[in-house]
This record gives sequence, C-alpha cells and structure tokens, in this order.
Amino acid sequence: MMLSSIVWTALAALAAISITIRVLRGLRIGQQTPGAALCVACALLILSAFLARYHAVQKEDAERRFHAGLEARRQRELARADPTKQGTPSPPAVTTPAGILPRPLEPGTHRETPSHRAGPVRIVDYALDLSLFPDRHSLSARAEFTVVARMPIDRIELALSPEFRVHALHVNGAPVTFLHTNDLVSFPYRLREGKAATLAVRYSRRVSVPLLRAGDLIDPRGIYLRPESRWYPSVGELDFHAPLRLSARVPRGMTVVSSGQLVRKSVEASTVTFHWESIVPVRMICLAAGRYAHSRNADGPVAIETFLHPNHASRARAYQETVQRIVRFYASRFGAYPYPKLTIAEIPVFPGGYGSTALLLLTEKSFAEKEIPTHFLAHEIAHQWWGNHVAPQGLGAGWLSEAFAEYSAVLYQEHAGGPKALQEALAGLEARYQTRLREGTEEAIAETDPYDQSGAYEGTVYYKGAYVLHSLRCLIGEEQFRRLLRLFAERYGAGTARIADFEALAGEVHGKPLTWFFDQWLRRPGAPRLRVSVAKDGPRARLTVAQEGAPYRGEMQLLVTDGAGKTRHTLHLDGSLTRLTIPVRGTITRVELDPDRAWLFHTPQRVHSL
Ligand SMILES: [Zn+2]
Repeated sequence: MMLSSIVWTALAALAAISITIRVLRGLRIGQQTPGAALCVACALLILSAFLARYHAVQKEDAERRFHAGLEARRQRELARADPTKQGTPSPPAVTTPAGILPRPLEPGTHRETPSHRAGPVRIVDYALDLSLFPDRHSLSARAEFTVVARMPIDRIELALSPEFRVHALHVNGAPVTFLHTNDLVSFPYRLREGKAATLAVRYSRRVSVPLLRAGDLIDPRGIYLRPESRWYPSVGELDFHAPLRLSARVPRGMTVVSSGQLVRKSVEASTVTFHWESIVPVRMICLAAGRYAHSRNADGPVAIETFLHPNHASRARAYQETVQRIVRFYASRFGAYPYPKLTIAEIPVFPGGYGSTALLLLTEKSFAEKEIPTHFLAHEIAHQWWGNHVAPQGLGAGWLSEAFAEYSAVLYQEHAGGPKALQEALAGLEARYQTRLREGTEEAIAETDPYDQSGAYEGTVYYKGAYVLHSLRCLIGEEQFRRLLRLFAERYGAGTARIADFEALAGEVHGKPLTWFFDQWLRRPGAPRLRVSVAKDGPRARLTVAQEGAPYRGEMQLLVTDGAGKTRHTLHLDGSLTRLTIPVRGTITRVELDPDRAWLFHTPQRVHSL
C-alpha cells in the first residue's frame, strides 16, 4: 500500500509539473516569470501529495473496517459456541473448507461442480519451505509439489488466496506465465493421463494485517494457518491427500507445530527452522507457531504431544489423559487410530478448535477454564477418522465429516456418562437444530455445499445430521450400527467417500436397502411436525397422529398416561394420518411422543397434555 501511494504521488507530481510548464509556455508566461511557474507547480505537487495520502488513508480504513468486521463476527461466534462448557457444540470450524469459485447464495441452488469431486490432477507429494514474520504479519514461501493428471489436460488450476502474490511459477524447472484471479492461479499446460509434472511456486503475503481473510492469524501472539485461508497453492481441498515435508522459519523463541513428526530443528542467528515430515498422506496443511511448553504422553493407544502456552503448561497432563481415553474409545468403535501420533497445539483468538490430520488446534480459552471441554475435544478428535482418514466428497460432504464427528462425541458422552448423558446430548442436538433454523432456510443435507456454510448450515449438517445417525442406530440396532461405522472407516479409510457410499454400506450391513430412510432424512429438508388428538370410545381410545408436510416413515414409541398409569405403545408412521386404538382406564391425560428420543422433531413439543 505504501509503495502504491508513493508511485501514485510521483506520477501525479510529474503530470502536474508537465501540465504547468505546458500551460505556462502556452501563455508565454514561462520565460517571463519562472518564479510564478514554480509556485503553481509546487501548489499542484502539494495537492497531488494530499490526494495520494487521502487515497491511502481511505484504503487503510476500508481494510481496518473489513478486519474489524471479521473480528466482530469471530467474537459473536465465540460467544455463541463457547467450547469451554461441557456439551457445547463445536463451532463451524470445519474440515471441509471454503470454495475455489464463487458459490450461489440462494438455498437449494447448489449444484455439484468440479471442486466437489476429484479434480483433473492430483498432488502426490508436497514440500513447503516458508519463512514467517509475525511482527510484519507476513510470510514468504516456496512450494514444490508433483501433480499427476487423472485425465488428459491442457491447463492446470491451483487454489491460492488473492492475499498472496505469486512471484514465480515453474513447471519441470521452466518458468510459466500464469493468471492469478481471485482464488485461482491458472496456466496452460498439456499433460497426458497418468503423466506427472513438478511445480514450484514462490509467493508471499501481500497484506500486512494480523488476520487472514478466513480468520487465521500471523502475529507475535501466535500463528495458525488452515487450508480455509488458501495459504498454499493446491488443488481443491476435498481432493488433497499427499505426504508432506514442511520447513518453517520463525523468530527464535517460537516453535512451529505441524502434521507428522518433527525431524529436525536448525538454529540460525535470529531465527530457528523447524522441519516437519509426514510420510502418511495428510488431507491438508495446517500449522501453528507460538511460544510453547512441550510435553509428551505415550501411556495409551497413541503418542500424544502437547504444545501449550507456558501459563497453561500445568494442564498438559490432564488433557493428554482425556485425549487418550477418547482415542481408546474411538479405536474400540471405529478401528485403530489412523496416524502415528496426535499433536495438540494451543492457538489464540480462534473461536473453537480444528481437527486437521494428526494435529488439533485448540483455542487458549479451552485451557483457561478449570474443566476440560470433553465434548468439544471428542468432536475434534473424531475428525481423525471422519474428515481425515475417511475424506468426504460431493455435495453433502459436511455430513460425513461434521455430523459424524458430532455424533461420535455424543457416543463418547454416552460411554462416559451413561443413558442419562445420551438423553441430554440428544435434547441438546435437537434444541440447537431448532434454534439454528432461524439463521436461514434449511436445505436437504445431501444438497448442502461444504463450500458455503452460511445460513442454517450448522444447524442442519452438524445437529440434525448427528441426530440422523442416532435415528439410524435406533432403526438398525446397536450391533449393526457399530459394524457399519467400523466397516465404513475400514473400507473408505485413506480414501474418499460420498453419502451414496455410506448409504450403500448401511443397506449391505442391514441386509436390505435403506433408501427410504436416507430419502426422508438427507434428501429433503425438515423433520417431523406432529399433532396428536384422542377420541374416547368406551373402554378404548383412538389416537390420531397427523403429520404436517411430507410424511415420515418408521416406528415411533408413545407413552400414554391414563387413570391406571403409563403404558407404552408403538406407532407405525407411514402417511399423513396414523391411527392407533388402545385400551384405556379412565381418561387419557398425557401423550408423550418418542420418549426415548429416537426421532428428531421440528418443533420442541413432544408432550401433549389432554
Ligand atoms: Zn468439526
């Protein structure tokens, strides 16, 4: 910005002097009164300098307002989804990130595009060498990676935020001319199917404010970078799966944490470089840097390393033990933990947490509270299986990542706290779904776009989505449900999966297709809206349950209270009106729908007093 205003001033000044001389010559004043000419030129010079400064201040103001708005939004999210309280939902900090291309905003208009599926090229290895400058909120980097064409191509497209300027791009050692428009760097390049090319991109951050557009941070308080910020050139985020070598240089005193193993550390005069490596392919490149106290715990199914701010170092042990318990539980349900270790890094500012491959980023607020936010931690850890090991693709991909992580956390809550904890968790999911519906028009889960998480996305994908898994569990039974999740991780682990894959596997495990179930819960918006009426007929009563909107199918339990007490009945919902005749004693005073909470309801009313 500084450079542009200097250039602007110089150009304006030159233009002003040139115009003045021409005007004065034209008026034949120049030769007679050179002093006057100089005065006019000076006045114009001052005016142009003033205009240049005004232009720069306006631009700075606009940037400041943009970042203040971003910060305000983050604070609102922080207040809304405080992760330090037990049972609070994870905020919409997700594994499936924002998109390469602008998306339509109207609900229900999402269409699957190339960015939702495997792209024309895949990255097979990735090396990133970067220098981080927290004081200047900047970074400069060189990325080198190999792409292999999945089909014949004549153009390569990479995602990189416009916050970064590409200085040079080479393919197989030769420079290429490229276009960097919005989030897309593209250049013509022919590659036959199955053929590889090595790309080298040298780039740096061009803006100098602490927050990146997606809310990440480069600041002396700490650094964290997630794929949402598009801070490294890559193919679409739903398609990234490559071994990683990352070297990051920071001022001495800071430590860099990333996926995989720290293989080397080299100390220079005023900087230190951390070399991280993951032979196991990672789904994304994430890093955190700060002034950390490091500790390690290998007393469980996985080695856990924590990098916490020194004032929270005493919390490390308790966190490590909780993480071991959660990992042990998930391993017993979904199969072995898929990576050699799990690293936890504390970060400032961010509203919540983030589960990238073998690396959890947790906000400092989590560590400041006395109680460990177990549900929140369980959600982020579950992403190691759902989102990283099994990578979702296609429209509705968020369900396979966020809903699975959220329901996994509910399963852990049930494991730790018993049936009462499960009921509380289900009531919480339903309440959050109903509340978040006010934030926008609900879409069918299978049509939600992971690249556009606005409106009712969180309520629909996270909370309704998790409840759908619970309903499925109630429908197919405990044994089949456990087998289904384990098989899903086994069959699609280290690969990608779509909703259709899970649906087919569910049908396979159940022994008959469950299309009707996925149709009603994933392929249309909403949840049941029921009304109950009772007609007494001598010693019997006829209950009528009316469904508003498209009716849902399935068995629902009823708890009916009459003069003799409470009795359970099963209702077979299969149309707009379902009738059930039951024997009664005295008068029916109360009908409770679905007392075990197998179903998600659209409205809070489950109990009907008569
Ligand atoms: Zn999540």
